[in-house]
Parts: sequence; C-alpha cells; structure tokens
Amino acid sequence: MSNQNKCLSCTDCGVVSCNSGQNTYPEFCLTANLDQKELKEALRLYGDPINRKIAVAAAEVEAAFYCKYTRVQEIIEFAHRIGAKKIGIATCVGLIEESRIFAKILRINGLEPYGIACKVGAVEKKTGLNLAEQYIMKTGERMCNPILQAKLLNKTKTGLNVVVGLCVGHDSLFYKYSKAICTTLMVKDRVLGHNPAAALYTSKTYYSKLLNQPQNK
Ligand code: SF4
Repeated sequence: MSNQNKCLSCTDCGVVSCNSGQNTYPEFCLTANLDQKELKEALRLYGDPINRKIAVAAAEVEAAFYCKYTRVQEIIEFAHRIGAKKIGIATCVGLIEESRIFAKILRINGLEPYGIACKVGAVEKKTGLNLAEQYIMKTGERMCNPILQAKLLNKTKTGLNVVVGLCVGHDSLFYKYSKAICTTLMVKDRVLGHNPAAALYTSKTYYSKLLNQPQNK
C-alpha cells in the first residue's frame, strides 16, 4: 500500500467489490491487502458457540424476513432464535411511551421485557457528574445513568438488551457495561424524529451545510 493511500478505507471505495464479487479492487482495498492471519482469527471466533449462535440467528432472520419484517419484528425473531426470554430495555425517559408499547409487543410474543429508564437512581447532574453550570439545563436536572441501567439489567440476567433512544455517548457507556449482548431499536436524534439517516439522505439538499462546512463549535 502506498503512503499516498495509507489513510483511504472502505468509505473511500467506489467499487465495493467485496460485496459484488467482481475482481477489481482499489489499490488501498482492505480485502485485497488483508493479513490472512487476521481473517483466519476472525473466522475462528465464529466457531465460538455463543458467537456462532448469534451470527447464525442474525443471518437467518435477515434471509428469512428480508424486507418483510420491521426492526421490532426482527428483534423478536432474533431473541427467539438465540433463546433469550428476558429482554432488557434500556430506554430514554423521553421515549418511555415507545418503550411501553415495545414491552407490550414483546409480552404478546412470549418474551419477558424488563425496562430501565435512563434517569434511574434520580441523581442530580450537578452531584453525579460535577458538571459545569452551563451544561445543566434546569435546576435539579437529573443525570442519565447508563452504567446503572446496564448494571441493573446485568443483575436481572437478561438474555438480550435493547437500547431505545439513549443519547450519543450514554449508549456507549451502556454497551460498555452491559453483560448481555445488545441491539438497538431506536437511536436518539431530537431534531430528526430519531431518524439520523435523514441528515444523510438530505445532505445534497436541505442538509447540504453538513458537506459544505464544519459545524460551529
Ligand atoms: S474491502 Fe475493498 S472492495 Fe470492499 S469496500 Fe473496502 S476497499 Fe472497497
């Protein structure tokens, strides 16, 4: 790989031949330049019984219900196929109503939802995070507590945890501390109705500013 190309990656690729099966790879291609030992190691890990169960269930759900099931339905199907009965819901309080509906749907499908809201513990932001005043939006505002959400779900021994609308970064901490495997039903985007892809879909029209300039600090 030349120095000129050393920072290029799949997001700079115009052919995506690793998917199409065509034999034309760019010079910087991560498949064409792959260390075969790394590939072998990744494939070996799919032989781990738990990894295999997850990977097979994911592939089966994708193929069996391709463009037929919504993500809500796919999560239910995935949970059944990996044998998870107790389903943790790590929810934002702002999306508690959506989580209630999701929990109801899980119950109808024979699963046992257990939801924990992000403000669990009711710790004030100022106390818990020693945050600068300018980042506290109202007096007595409670902190989001994704570490506690994860730990309480760990204690409940959930088989699968589902994230519903945790903030950027709070979700990172939740994933970090969750012992059960995680998937995401909703990601938070307060501006775009929790559909962050809309910023990308409209990046050549209404959100062209994203491509034209760095955002203001
Ligand atoms: S692996 Fe190679 S062909 Fe596939 S997207 Fe990346 S650079 Fe392109």
